[in-house]
Amino acid sequence: MKLKEWMNTTEHRGQNTEVRQKHNGYNFAFIDEGAKREIRRKILKAVAIPGYQVPFGSRELPIARGWGTGGIQITLSIIGPDDTLKVIDQGCDGSVNAVNIKKFVSAVTGVKATTDTKEATVIQTRHRIPEEKMTEEQILVLQVPYPEALRTVEPSEMETRRMHGEADYSRMWLYLYEDIVKFKEISIGARYPVMVNGRYIMDPSPIPRWDIQKLNMAETLYLFGAGREKRIYAIPPYTKVEPLEFEDSKFRVEDFKGAVCVRCGSTDTFFDEIIDDATGRRMYFCSDTGHCDKALESKSRELKTEADQCQ
Ligand SMILES: [Zn+2]
Repeated sequence: MKLKEWMNTTEHRGQNTEVRQKHNGYNFAFIDEGAKREIRRKILKAVAIPGYQVPFGSRELPIARGWGTGGIQITLSIIGPDDTLKVIDQGCDGSVNAVNIKKFVSAVTGVKATTDTKEATVIQTRHRIPEEKMTEEQILVLQVPYPEALRTVEPSEMETRRMHGEADYSRMWLYLYEDIVKFKEISIGARYPVMVNGRYIMDPSPIPRWDIQKLNMAETLYLFGAGREKRIYAIPPYTKVEPLEFEDSKFRVEDFKGAVCVRCGSTDTFFDEIIDDATGRRMYFCSDTGHCDKALESKSRELKTEADQCQ
């Protein structure tokens, strides 16, 4: 088939025309094709070696480093015109960072955006993993500020790479042991170190301990991008991910016993705690706002059916 004929048929299918019209004069998904290909190659390597940090040529974006450029570069490299995008920041769809990333990606790709976890095919996030269980059809992209889990015990990059290479993690274990001696338990909140596939210690990005359990044997592909530090790593679906713990000092998640979301009434989600200045009362809200909205909606639907039945 001649090139022109081929162009015509693809345009007939709507894809090419759509892509060309919707990116507002930018290349589809902003980054040039060569750079996107490099990032995709690095992602494949990261998937092949779960938990291993792959260096990549982090591109300049119209956003300052430290504002999620690693995550954005991954999202831009994997997103296609038929994808549906969700962006959250600390579980919230409406925060400034999330809204602006969503606007930017939509402006340079034209893809549909959503707040519904189930509806999204690509979810970019900072500091949280959605409460709703995700499937094989979805990809979760995490923004990472500090990709090196061993940085707390070793400042030299050369040395941490050697330690990973030789699986020499004794200093990390010693650090955790000293923490227990000082505080009677491991005091790390966010960025809790995990062992991936029994081989690499990995920084899961600053998600709460609550979300660590969602990494283990998950159906979804997790991709981690650090733009400033120029690193990509991954947890492929159905990979064993274990938080570091001792036999007699077990890992545990945050305790929200007795807490209820003031908005939707949920009792089994990760909460944001807010203290009312006037009354001093402690209040809890679901950190995952998309999930909270859904729970609220189904609750009001239930109330409506009950009211209808009463009439
Ligand atoms: Zn709620």
